[in-house]
Amino acid sequence: MLGQKITEFFRNLPRKKCIECGKEIEEQHECYGNKCNHCLHVK
Ligand SMILES: [Zn+2]
Repeated sequence: MLGQKITEFFRNLPRKKCIECGKEIEEQHECYGNKCNHCLHVK
């Protein structure tokens, strides 16, 4: 019972979006913050 609840919790998590361009972030590494790879390297 508990395991199923946890699975649904993660399934319902919203996709992480880049704060710069609004694109969905595929990589979910913590150190990437809230920016996609593209915006991380723009400067
Ligand atoms: Zn971006």
